[in-house]
Amino acid sequence: MTQNHLLTSGLLSRRLFLGAAGGTIVAAAAAPAWAQGTTSPDGTTGEPLLDIANEAAARPMPKMEVEPPIEPERRVGYCVVGLGQFALNQIIPSIGESRMSKLVALVSGDREKAETVAEQYGVSTEAIYNYDNFDEIAENDEIDIVYIILPNSLHAEFTVRAFEAGKHVMCEKPMAVSVEECEQMIAAAETANRKLMIAYRAQYEPFNLEAIRMIRDGELGTIRSLDNVAARPIDLENPADEWRVVKDLAGGGSLMDIGIYALNGARYLLGEEPVEISATISNPEGDERFTDVEDILSWRMRFPSGVIANCLTGYSFSGNRFSVYGSDASLTLEPATDYYKHGLRVMTEEEQTEPQIQEKNQFALEMDHLAEAVLNDTPVKTPGEEGLQDVRLMLKIYEAAETGAPVTIDWSYQRAVPAEQGADQQA
Ligand code: NDP
Repeated sequence: MTQNHLLTSGLLSRRLFLGAAGGTIVAAAAAPAWAQGTTSPDGTTGEPLLDIANEAAARPMPKMEVEPPIEPERRVGYCVVGLGQFALNQIIPSIGESRMSKLVALVSGDREKAETVAEQYGVSTEAIYNYDNFDEIAENDEIDIVYIILPNSLHAEFTVRAFEAGKHVMCEKPMAVSVEECEQMIAAAETANRKLMIAYRAQYEPFNLEAIRMIRDGELGTIRSLDNVAARPIDLENPADEWRVVKDLAGGGSLMDIGIYALNGARYLLGEEPVEISATISNPEGDERFTDVEDILSWRMRFPSGVIANCLTGYSFSGNRFSVYGSDASLTLEPATDYYKHGLRVMTEEEQTEPQIQEKNQFALEMDHLAEAVLNDTPVKTPGEEGLQDVRLMLKIYEAAETGAPVTIDWSYQRAVPAEQGADQQA
């Protein structure tokens, strides 16, 4: 497999990522806080930083424009479960760019891969677990948060087991594949008195936060409509896409995997919840990728304010954009929920502007959000209830597509923490 393949691509991307996304810049900017020591503040690389320390000693300390990382011993320890493409390429490298998080343990079905990753990131081999002895994480006090990055249908089991081990949980989207599973996860968090956060990274990403702020501050006037497309071609040559076309593992097709960004986006942009949904599915005939899960899914949501949101997802084309139309102006974010290089445009009848916003590492921001919530016992912005709401809505979208008739929503969900919260600190 595949596993070696994954690992190679993961480690290669780690180097590219650190170069391209400003890893060295972050290290230099953060140097004054921990330049006295010989290891990085997060303890993940274990690489000496003597050059930076010597340079810092020779020059006056510059004004800090970013908050420095907290002391290594106060950082919150993450255990990453599932060393696949997303974990290796985005999450684990991003921990090194976080302010409050550190990597302390790994869970994998592939010991050899896990040992290589552990060596690369300075994790003790004693802190490598597999899916059978996973529950032994309870004995490891270094682990505060378990980050579940497994195929969707495994999220619930490992989340519940992590709570039983007394840990907090970050769980990837979609939260799970059924309402019952989501409810079990929320109940397990309550029983354990631990925090459950769903990794809705876009809700921590500065361009998305700026779009939310503009809407809430009335800069577009009264919001009338919204459209949102989140699609990508699936490739069965890619091991990470193999399980995505198996319903038992993925829970569904493009909607569960990537369309969830359009759904969640419509909800956080508008700050309200849909009351009616209609939907259509289209699967190309004879395409082996779509015998078990859907390809194209187009759905429309009506919100209490009267706003209509048109959303589109698919596994056979690319698209990553939303537009929000107000009475005075409209905005478009494209790409909207990519990893980097977002582009925001604001249009009125007279002019078009492109607000300049600083790109930040959204993965580090979301991990630090949970780390801070654990340290200070504050609520998380995207808790289990937020994940449950999307799972419920996605199942309603499927129902609307199957019946061909609009489905009305008759439950009331309200965010505990508004989507715009945190925008000032992060944008
Ligand atoms: P991968 O297939 O690359 O990784 C999943 C990993 O889970 C595998 O590498 C494997 O790790 C482990 N695993 C355990 N059991 C199985 C199994 N039966 N089949 C396959 N893998 C198994 O997928 P991704 O990393 O792309 O996705 C993982 C999760 O992350 C999904 O829930 C996905 O929705 C989410 N994700 C989120 C993104 C975001 O932007 N927020 C982006 C991409 C994915 P090991 O070999 O170590 O045991």
